[in-house]
Amino acid sequence: MTKDDCSRWGEATRLVRGGLDRSPHGETSEALYLNSGFVYEDAETAAARFAGEADGYVYARYGNPTVTMFEERLRLLEGSQACYATASGMAAVFGALACQLRAGDHVVASRALFGSCYQIVTNILPRFGVTHTLVDGNDPDVWREAITENTRCVFLETPSNPTLEVIDIAMVSDIAHKVGARVVVDNVFATPILQKPMALGADIVVYSGTKHIDGQGRCLGGAIMSTAAFKEDELKPFLRHTGPSLSPFNAWVLLKGLETLKLRVRHQCASARAVADALRALPAVERVIYPELDSHPQKALAARQMTAGGTMVTFVLKGGREEAFDALRRLSIVDISNNLGDAKSLITHPASTTHRNIGEEARAAMGIGEGMLRLSVGLEETDDLIGDLTGAIAGRA
Ligand SMILES: *Cc1c(COP(=O)(O)O)cnc(C)c1O
Repeated sequence: MTKDDCSRWGEATRLVRGGLDRSPHGETSEALYLNSGFVYEDAETAAARFAGEADGYVYARYGNPTVTMFEERLRLLEGSQACYATASGMAAVFGALACQLRAGDHVVASRALFGSCYQIVTNILPRFGVTHTLVDGNDPDVWREAITENTRCVFLETPSNPTLEVIDIAMVSDIAHKVGARVVVDNVFATPILQKPMALGADIVVYSGTKHIDGQGRCLGGAIMSTAAFKEDELKPFLRHTGPSLSPFNAWVLLKGLETLKLRVRHQCASARAVADALRALPAVERVIYPELDSHPQKALAARQMTAGGTMVTFVLKGGREEAFDALRRLSIVDISNNLGDAKSLITHPASTTHRNIGEEARAAMGIGEGMLRLSVGLEETDDLIGDLTGAIAGRA
C-alpha cells in the first residue's frame, strides 16, 4: 500500500487503517515496538544508515516503528506532507517555534493563549532574544500593524481558551505571508476533525495528543504537522538533538485513539450544542458561549472555518465565584478538572485555575470573570449531562 493509495481513502478509513505497518506475524491491531535501540545485519548496513544512504531505524530518539505509524495516521487525517510526533503538546509548540527562531526575530501571537503557550511566547523565547507582540480579536488592521518586516512567526489558537473566540486563519495567514512570516496554528480546541488550518493558509499545525486524540485521559503526546521540507530541514535537526521524543507506548495509545476520534468528536459536538441550548434557558445563566449560537460574535466565521462548533461550552453564571463554586459542588456526573477533550465531561473555573496566574487585569482584558465556567463535553448520555448541569445550577443537590 503506497502513501498515495491511502490519501484517496475517506477520513474514517484513514483513521482506522492509515499508516498500518504490519510485521511478518500479521497482527490485526498495530504492534507496539517497545524498544529504544536497533541492531544491524552487518557493519556496512550500520554505516549506510548513519550516512543516510539506507532506510531503517537507528535509535528511538530519531524514530520507532510504532511512533511512525502514529505520525503517518495523523498525517493522512490532516492532509499534510509531514508529521513529527513529540512527547507532549507543549513539546510540539516549543519545537515548532524554537526550531525556526533566532535572536532578533519577532513573534506575533494571539493574546488568548493556553497558559504554557503564553509562557513560551512571553517568558522563555525572550530569554533567547526573541521579541513578541500580542494581538486581540479579528481586526485586520491590528494584525497588519503587529506583523512587521522582522516578524518570523505568527502563532495563534482558535477557538481560544476559555472564551471560544474564533480567529480568521485565512485573514491572518494572508497578512503574515506578505512579509514572509510563517503561521503556526495550535489546533487543539478545534481538533483535526473540525478544522484544517493548512487549507486556510497556515504553514504549521500543532497538536496536544493528550486531549481529543487520546481522549481517554491516559497519556501525554503531541505532534507537529508541516511540509516535508520544514520537517527535514528545520524540525529534524532541532528535535533529534534536543530529545522531546514520543514514547512508543504513548504513540500506540494515541494511534488507537485516532481510530475512534471522528466518532467521539462528532458525538461530543452534538452533545455540546444540546448542552449549550439547555444552559441558555436557565435564569441563573447570564451568558452561554458556543461558536454555533446566534449570540456568538464570530458565528459566521466559525461556520466557514469549522465543520461544527466544537466540544467545549463556556458559560457565565449570574453572581460570581461563590455561585460558580456552589454549582460545581452540586455536580454528580461532570468532574472538576482542567483537562479537556476527554470521554468524561470535565468542568473548570478558569479564574481560579488555568487563568489564575495571569492576574486580574489580564483576565478582565480577556473577558474571564469569576462567574465563568468552561465545560469539556464528554461521551455520556446528553440527557444525563443536561440533568446534572441544570440541577447543579438551579441549586438542586
Ligand atoms: C493542553 C494544551 C496544550 C499543551 O498540551 P500538553 O499535551 O498538555 O503538553 C497546548 N495547547 C492547548 C490549546 C492545549 O489545550
